[in-house]
Amino acid sequence: MITLFRLARIALVVVLLSAGISARADLSTSVVALKAARLFDGKSKALVTNGVVIVQGDKIVEAGSNLPIPNGAQIIDLGDATLSPGFMDAHTHLTFDFSGNFNERRLKILETNVSELALMTIPNARATVEAGFTTVRDLGSHFGDSHDFVDISLRNAIARGIIVGPRMLVATYGIGATGGHFDDTAGFRDLLFGREPDYSNGIADGPDAIRKAVRFQVKNGADVIKAAVSGGVLSMTDEVDTPQFTPVEMAALVDETHRLRKKIAVHCHGDQAAKEAIEAGVDSIEHGSFLKPETLQLMKSKGTYLVPTLMATEWIMGKIEAYPAVLQAKAKAAGAARSEMFRNAVKMGVKIGLGTDAAVYPHGQNAKEFKLMVDLGMPPIDALRAGTSADAELFGIAHKVGTLEKGKLADIVAIPGDPTTDITATERVSFVMKEGKIVKNTAR
Ligand SMILES: [Zn+2]
Repeated sequence: MITLFRLARIALVVVLLSAGISARADLSTSVVALKAARLFDGKSKALVTNGVVIVQGDKIVEAGSNLPIPNGAQIIDLGDATLSPGFMDAHTHLTFDFSGNFNERRLKILETNVSELALMTIPNARATVEAGFTTVRDLGSHFGDSHDFVDISLRNAIARGIIVGPRMLVATYGIGATGGHFDDTAGFRDLLFGREPDYSNGIADGPDAIRKAVRFQVKNGADVIKAAVSGGVLSMTDEVDTPQFTPVEMAALVDETHRLRKKIAVHCHGDQAAKEAIEAGVDSIEHGSFLKPETLQLMKSKGTYLVPTLMATEWIMGKIEAYPAVLQAKAKAAGAARSEMFRNAVKMGVKIGLGTDAAVYPHGQNAKEFKLMVDLGMPPIDALRAGTSADAELFGIAHKVGTLEKGKLADIVAIPGDPTTDITATERVSFVMKEGKIVKNTAR
């Protein structure tokens, strides 16, 4: 009996010891300490010096200035750089590339198998995350009459680690009116594609059809709903600023989306459509080119976000000959109006999220939006906040990402130098970590 007891005690001690050893071993291999000359926590009004972020597994354990480094942690010293939360882009289209000749690209989509179009998204996702954008809200993906939900597949493949890319919140097919910005058949001969598009293509007229379209997107995996409530630049038969939905349709759109606990982002250039959308309770106005000061005031009082997508107009204006004449005229009108609108929004303190309309320009140049915002009067620190914590709040995921804080996912970038004195440094991130895994490190 005594021998058995002793054996049992020895066994217990051995088990406890080995458990202790393996726990210690795990700790030393999985704790990473990132160090850099400065740190931006995603929400503060200033940077701090001697930035440290302690990461264990996929989470941040601690972040701040001059923090002690835990024993056995792997230290990654990023030198004269600024640690920042991974950037976020509130308006991408990772499944498209419209940066070349518009008509050529439009024809290419009709010629190419959707499986091939899907594979072509892989480098877009990689370029985006390597540019420091660890989360994107992908606002619409649709290849003609295809029902393949390529954005859902891309989101899932990235989440499973099959493809390198940012965390995606996807909208599947944008919802719009017949002949509006999202009607892919507009500009082609009537019934060329066999039938008028319907809710299953995102095209809906009347409150019931709009509710059905929202339900259809959510049924198929949408994280967020996107709708076009005014005309747009890159569409053939709509005027850029005319309303696309009635107030009754808009109310149904917002109500159904919110009942399903999703956020609603609306493409809107025109002032009247924006007013009606804000009154209906949309979560963000995308583009907003022609918004008047009183409409911006309404946004401020309702807490509606503006996602100005300055990169989109910037790219189109720089390559205006690549677009059909009818689109050139619309681009010029929107481009001429948006700078004053943005300056007013900054002055008035409207909530602003960073979004770029990636796909209009080549993927991976998202960070150029920071400079465009600063050039139009936004303080650099506020531009950085727009591309981190403000977007996280707009997406409804601020409890997980957007700041460098204990318990958040370890989405971290290193910006060379000090982005508050040279905002273009955001275009040259030297280090990208997503959920604790290093995606890129050129700082070595
Ligand atoms: Zn867009």
